[in-house]
Amino acid sequence: MAERIAEEKVNEIRQAVDIVDVIGDYIQLNKQGRNYFGLCPFHGENTPSFSVSPEKQIYHCFGCGAGGNAFSFLMELEGYSFQEAAVKLAEKGNVKLEIDAASVASAKSMPPDLQQMMEAHELLRKFYHHLLVNTKDGQHALEYLLNRGFTMEAIEKFQIGYSLKSWDFVFKFLTKRKFPADVMERAGLIIKREKDGNYFDRFRDRIMFPIFDRSGNTIAFSGRSLGDDEPKYLNSPETAIFNKSKTLYNFHLARPQIKKLQRAVLFEGFADVIAADRAGVGNGVGTMGTALTEEHVASLRRNVQSITICYDSDNAGIEAAYRAANLLTEAGCQIRVALMPDGYDPDDYIKEYGEEKFRHEVIDSSITFMAFKLLYLRRGKRLQNEGDRLLYIEEVLKEISRLDKAVERDHYLRQLANEFSLSLEALKEQQKQVYYTEKRRNSQKGKGVFEPQKRVQTPKRADSLKPAYHTAERRLIAHMLRNSDIAFKVQDMLQGNTFNIDEHQAIITYLLGFYEKGHMPDPSAFINFIKDEKLKRIVVDIEMMSINDEITEQELSDYLKQVLNYQKMLKIKEKLNEEKEAERQKDYAKAALIAMEILHLRKSL
Ligand SMILES: [Zn+2]
Repeated sequence: MAERIAEEKVNEIRQAVDIVDVIGDYIQLNKQGRNYFGLCPFHGENTPSFSVSPEKQIYHCFGCGAGGNAFSFLMELEGYSFQEAAVKLAEKGNVKLEIDAASVASAKSMPPDLQQMMEAHELLRKFYHHLLVNTKDGQHALEYLLNRGFTMEAIEKFQIGYSLKSWDFVFKFLTKRKFPADVMERAGLIIKREKDGNYFDRFRDRIMFPIFDRSGNTIAFSGRSLGDDEPKYLNSPETAIFNKSKTLYNFHLARPQIKKLQRAVLFEGFADVIAADRAGVGNGVGTMGTALTEEHVASLRRNVQSITICYDSDNAGIEAAYRAANLLTEAGCQIRVALMPDGYDPDDYIKEYGEEKFRHEVIDSSITFMAFKLLYLRRGKRLQNEGDRLLYIEEVLKEISRLDKAVERDHYLRQLANEFSLSLEALKEQQKQVYYTEKRRNSQKGKGVFEPQKRVQTPKRADSLKPAYHTAERRLIAHMLRNSDIAFKVQDMLQGNTFNIDEHQAIITYLLGFYEKGHMPDPSAFINFIKDEKLKRIVVDIEMMSINDEITEQELSDYLKQVLNYQKMLKIKEKLNEEKEAERQKDYAKAALIAMEILHLRKSL
């Protein structure tokens, strides 16, 4: 069992952190009016429907209904327990905890075998690093790295290590520490030999690059051979903790830089990321030997809008960059593409031309996606040949038609006219034709490529479709959440009756308990007080309703009437059935009595 953090401490932590900072570490937030908006990290979207209220210290997504305070955000996003979230937030808010943070962290809300996999990776990362940096066994590997331009600083920063030339060192190392062999096999650290069922180490005599998840946990390794051993890079297989299509190398270290520069640089592999970092490009991330996936795009897009793609400048790299740029553009990113001379990758380039030149002539001289498209479309064409030239011009006009801004369209049309000595007027005319043909084709496909990008979505509230008592209950709760006097007043006015919707009744029961304990109205504190996830979401949803600050006596009793009337209506319905039943049984005296009751009820509506 994890140690519990005292309630006063939790309150102290809550007051020490700002939810805007907490969520801002994960997604890019923009202020609009009183609230901040961004792309929801809990569901895929291109237009922001996720809002954060600094006043109330809560967040809410109109798209998927996610909502809560800083604690629930970390619990939901990182899979933390409440205690773990509290430890993280305490760190962020510089609140000292008397308890041992490790004892909380070790009680991860994660299946035990996954926890063991993470721990084994963590242990090996430290050990491999120690072998490389401090031991004779790793000396040749260290020299190899230093000769290839790695600095001690980079070796430290990326926790590079060395795996021994042994068939069973890791196996023994881990089993001695009580890690089950089958779990370590599933973690990809050891391999079972078919013929005798014995285990052997996956990585032997290799330079070890740990792969981290976005929280900085080691989840896999890539081992580079020192000599001519094939493969040059040996990666961990996909495991329960390592999913290549989700992992972006260096994301945890690059995130602060990405936030600061409002730009990320995307590389094809981790070696490029490390080389670029050496050249002073600290906002680089890399895929792990896979093409860019929707998941990569989504996690990038949540953090940053401007992305520079820096892929190898061979054919495969250019194709991959084109594909990645399209994916990222579709997700609403602004793309630039960094180019190197034919056939280079960032690592080669830096070795040959140096760090300074890489930074200035590759990264800082990146071109727009449109300019890249022009180069891309030129490839393989002989423009002195008329057929190729006409095809190229038509393809370019198609791309120009897709540009949002008239200024941009004009710029590229002029460029095209100059290059091929064409009449600008004729090109403009042709471009319009291309535009309408494309538009027709797209509308037939039902795809609105040409529609202007939608901005912040206005929340669609379904309240108008809900029965009157539903809205009345929510409005009452909204006022009760803001004012404890009103809460107690509503309780009196209910005279022992309850709200019609069970969740609403549960919320007011919690709320009255919260006030009775001496708490002041505070949405974020109240959310911690409620234990039920569903109720928390409803509270957040109600908190985000816009209501007047004051409520008059008249409004209060009108709302209450709507709440109670529904119950009376139900009662009347019930009585009408009873009346019918009495008449059917020819018990007219009873029927008359019931009719009187119904009359009474109707009068009180
Ligand atoms: Zn959402």
